[in-house]
Amino acid sequence: MTRIVAIANQKGGVGKTTTAINVASSVAAAEKRALVVDMDPQANLTSGLGIDAAALAGTIYRGLVEGTPATDLIQNTELVTLKVLPAERNLTGAEIELVDQPRREYRLRELLEPVAEDFDYIFIDCPPSLGLLTVNALVAAHSVLVPLQCEFFALAGVSELMSTLNRVRASFNRGLEVQGIVFTMVDERTNLTSQVMQDVRENFPGAVYDSVIPRNVRLAEAPSFGKPILLYDIRSKGAEAYLSLTKEILNDEAESTR
Ligand code: ATP
Ligand code: MG
Repeated sequence: MTRIVAIANQKGGVGKTTTAINVASSVAAAEKRALVVDMDPQANLTSGLGIDAAALAGTIYRGLVEGTPATDLIQNTELVTLKVLPAERNLTGAEIELVDQPRREYRLRELLEPVAEDFDYIFIDCPPSLGLLTVNALVAAHSVLVPLQCEFFALAGVSELMSTLNRVRASFNRGLEVQGIVFTMVDERTNLTSQVMQDVRENFPGAVYDSVIPRNVRLAEAPSFGKPILLYDIRSKGAEAYLSLTKEILNDEAESTR
């Protein structure tokens, strides 16, 4: 069974793309077939995996708006078992062009359906908004992974995201689950960090991963080399943390299929 996981948080710069690249590549390194989908017009995931979208015949925009099959758009990466469905700037236009189209919330689900069986895991990197692109990701997904930065408004941000999940469940995707919440860019020396971590764990019991992602400069450098952290610096704290998180995510599935 394919597991489709959207990586979402409407707040910008919280580590969605870094988490998408590094969890997907760690899953691939565990010899699972993984696809990572770029649903953000900023296309940071695409460039962070070393892909020059300008050199391609098409990206996800064509799949969502023009009906180009995913097989024509999916690209290889340096890791044999990791594929990517890339994006470019023009994806901004999809949000506008799809607005008055029928089944506009189901475009990504329908794009992925024919290829889903080729993968064990599909991760979808969302833009920092709760607009139609994110809704498409939430409608296509089985679950949502929420990267969270420990700052004062973090809890309010997750609560807003949870009400969006409820709306998506009510209208489009009844089975949508919360895969989990992961703390990113953590600097455990600050009081605010430990306070926020405690508050979130209390408010969402059982939903927060034990693994936390530390602030680590190697994680920030890797995308400029077009590489996931595993290929850039496998001995870094960042690599260690994403491998540990991935182990927990793979375990979630083992538990739920028992
Ligand atoms: P956006 O909302 O704009 O899509 P995002 O949520 O996808 O942002 P990222 O792009 O993953 O966030 O991260 C924001 C910035 O922080 C990037 O420059 C990234 O390299 C850096 N970064 C992410 N995680 C870490 C980390 N654990 N340690 C240090 N830097 C990090
Ligand atoms: Mg991003």
